[in-house]
Amino acid sequence: MNGYWMIVLCLLAAQYLFVLFSRSADSAVTLSPGKGHMFIACNVMIIVTMASAEIWLRRSCRYHKQAVVVCGFIVSYLMYFVLEPYVDGAQMTVMMPIMIALIYFDHRLLYSLGVFSTIFYAVIYFALERPLLGKPFLEFLLVECVYIIFGIMARAVIIRGRETREYLEQLTKSEQELMVERAISDKLLKMDALTGLYNHKSFHEYLDSLLEQCESNRLRLQLALFDIDNFKHINDTYGHWVGDLVLKEVAAKVNSMIGLNDFAARYGGEEFAVIFTDKNVHDAYAVAEHIRAGIAAMAHPYAGGKPITVSIGFCHYQLGDGKEALFRKTDDALYTAKRSGKNTVVVSGVAHGDDPLISYA
Ligand code: GH3
Ligand code: MG
Ligand code: MG
Repeated sequence: MNGYWMIVLCLLAAQYLFVLFSRSADSAVTLSPGKGHMFIACNVMIIVTMASAEIWLRRSCRYHKQAVVVCGFIVSYLMYFVLEPYVDGAQMTVMMPIMIALIYFDHRLLYSLGVFSTIFYAVIYFALERPLLGKPFLEFLLVECVYIIFGIMARAVIIRGRETREYLEQLTKSEQELMVERAISDKLLKMDALTGLYNHKSFHEYLDSLLEQCESNRLRLQLALFDIDNFKHINDTYGHWVGDLVLKEVAAKVNSMIGLNDFAARYGGEEFAVIFTDKNVHDAYAVAEHIRAGIAAMAHPYAGGKPITVSIGFCHYQLGDGKEALFRKTDDALYTAKRSGKNTVVVSGVAHGDDPLISYA
């Protein structure tokens, strides 16, 4: 529509200049009674058609394509009547509707508008141009050839455009598939297949980056290592698949009880690690204790109905300690928990039996 507006404005400006500066007999003819009315009527109809199409496009949300096609069609043919016989090659305006088919990459529109324009010009030629203006037959043939050649070229452009669109769609589709595959494989690389928790490798990567934050931004961090008690016995008594089931259930329990800022991973066979962040030591300890109690309270009918428990080593990260010391301290606490009867949380640096909350205060 913007293109058509520009053409229409150029047409009106050109006519104005023509009437203003031309002292030729042509301009007198243009404005002469009878023919002058036709001339003005065509211009008014062009403006009315354009304005109607604009209103339709703004008001209605349907038939936009049809509105542009019909408007372009009417304006082009009216322009032909305005320009003819003052401008040589005015027949070319009749070709403009064919271009609309190009904008929409529409085959059917191209064929119908192309055939219509060819026939329409033949009628105009034999009814008006030849008897009234005495235009040579060769000019008629030339114009018709231009229409046909333009139609063939437009068809080639539409075919090429469609091929390019299909190629781009294919490319986008395969790119999307690739992204999904990459996301899945990324997840698989980070997760433990059996429990769905993060694996050992991603746990260490995450801990490394968190410890950097602890040192630079004084982020609070606690580490808890969980080890299922007497797990070998469960495997030996009920079978490996029951052992796997217990691992899954314990992992799900741990995952469901940690906070949004915490991170749980399967550290090894029947060992899990939880990193608590953004919590004070008392709150983190309380969560660890809550998880221990929650696991001990779970029912396992397939494993003899007896409770399955975990021992937990817990350590609050001291600035400057580094990863190795944090692990050593947590591991020592876990070892103490195992030695002191299992199914308990031992806080690093706090003697077993002392209240960890009071000792840390
Ligand atoms: P403790 O209370 O001292 O921790 O004793 P435990 O029996 O739990 O410890 P131990 O290290 O003797 O046994 C761990 C067992 O965990 C040995 C191994 O066969 C089993 N295990 C490790 N990974 C898996 C697994 O993916 N599935 C199953 N079913 N068992 C596993
Ligand atoms: Mg173990
Ligand atoms: Mg164990």
